Amino acid sequence: GTGTATWVYDFSEGSKDQKDLLGGKGANLAEMTNLGLPVPPGFTITTDACRFYLEHGSTPPELADQVTEHLTALEKAMGKTLGDPTDPLLVSVRSGAAASMPGMMETVLNVGLNDESVRGLAAQSGSERFAWDSYRRLIQMFGKTVLDIDGELFEHALDEAKREQGTESDLDLDAEHLEDVVDRFKAIVREQCGRDFPQDPREQLDLAINAVFDSWNSERAILYRRRERIPSDAGTAVNVVAMVFGNLGMDSGTGVAFTRDPGTGEQGVYGDYLQNAQGEDVVAGIRNTVPLPDLERIDQGAYRELLSIMSTLESHYRDLCDIEFTVERNKLWMLQTRVGKRTAAAAFRIATQLVDEGLIDMDEAVRRVTGDQLAQLMFPRFVSGGDATQLTQGMNASPGAAVGKAVFSSETAVQWADRGEKVVLVRRETNPDDLSGMIAAEGVLTSRGGKTSHAAVVARGMGKTCVCGAEELQVDTKNRRFTAPGGTVVEEGDVISIDGSTGRVWLGEVPVEDSAVVRYFEGEIDPDSAEADDLVRSVHRVLTHADEVRRLDVRTNADTPEDSARARRFGARGIGLCRTEHMFLGDRRQLVERLILAEDDEGKQTALDALAPLQEQDFLEIFEAMDGLPVTVRLLDPPLHEFLPDLTDLSVRVAVAEAQGHPDEANLRLLAAVRRLHEQNPMLGLRGVRLGLVVKGLFAMQVRAIAEAACERKLAGGDPRPEIMIPLVGAVQELEAIREESEQVLASVFEERGVELEVLIGTMIEVPRAALTAAEIAQSAAFFSFGTNDLTQMTWGFSRDDVEAAFFHAYLDKGIFGVSPFESLDRPGVGRLVEVAVGEGRAARPELKLGVCGEHGGDPDSVHFFHEVGLDYVSCSPFRVPVARLEAGRAAL
Ligand code: PEP
Ligand code: MG
Repeated sequence: GTGTATWVYDFSEGSKDQKDLLGGKGANLAEMTNLGLPVPPGFTITTDACRFYLEHGSTPPELADQVTEHLTALEKAMGKTLGDPTDPLLVSVRSGAAASMPGMMETVLNVGLNDESVRGLAAQSGSERFAWDSYRRLIQMFGKTVLDIDGELFEHALDEAKREQGTESDLDLDAEHLEDVVDRFKAIVREQCGRDFPQDPREQLDLAINAVFDSWNSERAILYRRRERIPSDAGTAVNVVAMVFGNLGMDSGTGVAFTRDPGTGEQGVYGDYLQNAQGEDVVAGIRNTVPLPDLERIDQGAYRELLSIMSTLESHYRDLCDIEFTVERNKLWMLQTRVGKRTAAAAFRIATQLVDEGLIDMDEAVRRVTGDQLAQLMFPRFVSGGDATQLTQGMNASPGAAVGKAVFSSETAVQWADRGEKVVLVRRETNPDDLSGMIAAEGVLTSRGGKTSHAAVVARGMGKTCVCGAEELQVDTKNRRFTAPGGTVVEEGDVISIDGSTGRVWLGEVPVEDSAVVRYFEGEIDPDSAEADDLVRSVHRVLTHADEVRRLDVRTNADTPEDSARARRFGARGIGLCRTEHMFLGDRRQLVERLILAEDDEGKQTALDALAPLQEQDFLEIFEAMDGLPVTVRLLDPPLHEFLPDLTDLSVRVAVAEAQGHPDEANLRLLAAVRRLHEQNPMLGLRGVRLGLVVKGLFAMQVRAIAEAACERKLAGGDPRPEIMIPLVGAVQELEAIREESEQVLASVFEERGVELEVLIGTMIEVPRAALTAAEIAQSAAFFSFGTNDLTQMTWGFSRDDVEAAFFHAYLDKGIFGVSPFESLDRPGVGRLVEVAVGEGRAARPELKLGVCGEHGGDPDSVHFFHEVGLDYVSCSPFRVPVARLEAGRAAL
């Protein structure tokens, strides 16, 4: 009825499209239930309930009754009662948020066991040992997760029990020993909490549910969300599922399956299986699994049913699925499925394979891959050679080429990375506490665990190179070293190289080469030739389609002929930003010095005259590389003192010369100039258009060089398309003055050379005032190009050169923003200024061209924003051009 919110859904009531409400796991369990697949019965408590709990500190008032209702139905379906002393129903309580956060939140298994029902379970299962082992697992997990007891206390107690029996393996503990372990665990609970382990099954359930809610805000979950840009207020759902047991004997087991190889995209039977075990044993990589095809030999019935379910799921989801399953006494149960994580290469291959299989169309294929994945495929890879020695080969868990100093703990990884060192994190196996170290490291190497171990799953998710299960390595984390076959000892700090595509591990630094995808973009591999592998062909097909559907043009930021030519090969349709200050460096610094030091107009003009032909030559070559395409040349932007020696250095030199009795006249004059030009806030000082207005002849010289170069190209039969861009404009009057001067220069050069050419003159929008007065500025500008670096700097008041190192980590920690606004455009703030300027600029001048040339032009999320606000193009560095093409395509779909 009205007013009563629904907080709990039975698996039969949901669907895969309800991830936000039911979480990914719950939504997919519901989907599988409705497909008629063998899912243990259960129900899902919604993310709404979690958000309510996190906000109010208590569960919604109706929740207890709704849980009772669903629990009763579950008990009826199973013919058992939760915690019944003679034949107990046991349940698992599992987290599951909308976005996958593998291993980040909590799970409690075997809820419903207590001092009495453990005996019922023993009787029903026919195994005392199994029952007591299940009970000790419950107390251990519950103690750690729900009661917040240090997990080590339980581990130590278990180790002690093993030591007393003279064994190192859990399997050597019999029922009696485990009953004794249960007593020790209960004593730990009593000591640590001042209360007994709760015997009431319903109390266990309620406390476990709240603990899962609480785990949303665990440290590692917060860190993971920040890294993956998952909203911090989404909350998790909780799934309460009837327990099935993979550890009832050798006719039971648990495994993970993929419908395609998540590393390469190839179709086949992929996964791991572990007999007589529960899921946590597989993910922790504690015992070694067998490859999934071996299940056929172990249990043919379960194997055949699994293959048939895998094919059902793949055609239903039209994508690679990963699956967790359990076999309980030869009966197959599906515990989870989801559209599986995959490597970047697999993502492209699978997308086009599914097109060829008729399951999806090309639009969908473009949606299925991301710019970040494409960027990963452009990383260099290892080549043979060099003097590194191969130590071993492990499993290729997550591709890439990582070189760095071996470190053996997450803390060291973080510390060394903070001081700028490249490190490779080496562990026997990783667990969720290693997340910060994995983020800091170039790559991860483990000696245990398969491709579905924690290290492998998490590394693939974050695009980090990982080699796992390198069993030949003896990793000694305590003494910070590992030993390779043959006795080579690698100490902390030794450089190693790991190849996530082949699993190879070397001592020393292995040289790297360009990726095949880059060679394709370079035009060195023809996608239709035999030399192209299926990855190159997939990338080619996907990008060709993205180019067809996108509305945004993609240009590049380039200021050399080489970069221009490369960007053009990568698909750039022109230059959106040619920064001319890069042409004033090196040998030419001297000439700038002369310009600054000149005492009269004549001296200034001489210096400018010396710079002009050099500038002209630069432009000539760039126009040639971009023949037929627009080239937006930005007039000089940085403060002039950037071209002079450092004040302190020069003062010292002058002082030393004086002290030695050889005062240096030239340096003294230079020092005076450096002092005169010194600014407290150079970024807010004499730069951009302000320079053009103050330093007579400077911009005119640059415009003349552009015009001369264009004439030269034109007369040589070329098709130069220069555009002139004025930086840092805040008021239309600034632009007006420079535009008039520039038009005069252009007209006079074109007349002298007898050439006709249209040159657009426009401005950057990078000062908030320019955005707010866009209607006026558009009167005088043929185009706007958003300089979102400066616009971000001036909107937030963040010095772009200082703040990231100084305090952004604190801002990220406090969640003030999830990602640096210099990296991904701040939509509500800076984005709002962009929207205002676009709207008012276009209203004032409908043919106004609009683009962006700040770093954000190559950031996937920002590209979608620029598409949405209706820009004409984005401009980014040459290597980001393919990424921007793809994301512009995805934005248009
Ligand atoms: C900008 O400010 O966004 C821009 C492109 O100019 P620069 O980075 O050279 O200041
Ligand atoms: Mg700028």
